[in-house]
Amino acid sequence: MEFQDTIASLKEIYQDCVLCPHQCHVDRTHGQLGICRLPAKIIMDCALAHHGEEPPLSGTRGAGTIFFSSCNLGCIYCQNYQISHKAGGRELSSPALAQVMLGLQKQGCHNIEPVTPTPQTPLIMEALLLAREQGLKIPFVYNCGGYEIPQIIKMLDKMVDIYLPDFKYGVAEDGAAFSSVGDYPHYALESLKEMVRQVGDELEMENDVAKRGVIVRHLVLPGRLENSKEVFRLIKRDVSTSLAVSLMSQYTPTGKLQNHPLLGRRITAAEYNEILDFALDLGFDNLFIQEVSDDNLLPDFDCENPFQ
Ligand code: SF4
Repeated sequence: MEFQDTIASLKEIYQDCVLCPHQCHVDRTHGQLGICRLPAKIIMDCALAHHGEEPPLSGTRGAGTIFFSSCNLGCIYCQNYQISHKAGGRELSSPALAQVMLGLQKQGCHNIEPVTPTPQTPLIMEALLLAREQGLKIPFVYNCGGYEIPQIIKMLDKMVDIYLPDFKYGVAEDGAAFSSVGDYPHYALESLKEMVRQVGDELEMENDVAKRGVIVRHLVLPGRLENSKEVFRLIKRDVSTSLAVSLMSQYTPTGKLQNHPLLGRRITAAEYNEILDFALDLGFDNLFIQEVSDDNLLPDFDCENPFQ
């Protein structure tokens, strides 16, 4: 099989883990844990037809979202912290995960969308290969936090149809303050370049559903407008203004963050619109935007599903 050598090479990385820029160099096959706290196993939280993604991903029947436990970024404001800040969950074999993927296709989902795949990439790709052999046809969406190693992304060439990376920080100091990584812009930009090299900067659609390409997500944080502007400047400078960018407004302070001096509030409509205008002025015209009012509420996040 064309990709089996790549899967084998990816699985070897578990023994000296450099799957993400933390480069922990731990042997996850022998019980050592790095920053993500994950062993060399698939640990899944739940899988469901997700109707809250961008329209080309959710379509009419939902994205086939599979939430994996833990993450390689520990953002203090994570909107999904119940899943991504813990390494517990259901342990699955690659063949079992392949069946979950096939089940989502049977349910009518438009794609398979792992969240967050980065620390579990080798076995997720092994499962994808098995599912493809058993009839999986729908696109595979790599929904990651953007803190990626370009060389690892390069290994996914021709296996990933749609990349869905965050680009959280253009200002490195904000990455250090809020996600404990001072080199986020460098890795986000270099990995984005590799993603675009593989699948192009135009989002290919069929019947209003994405088939191939890249959608970058950026969550506007309260008061951090220079950070947001720098994200767009970097993408324009080094990648393309043709890229589809999802400009997200739903930041909500959770728990202790409600008293955080910088992040203790939602963004205002004026802040969101300032970033939107900035992006448009730079030439980005393929934007997914959200309605923002100064009293809107975060939609409930639902993870009830048959695969839990
Ligand atoms: S995937 Fe986990 S163990 Fe591997 S380098 Fe990243 S944080 Fe460290």
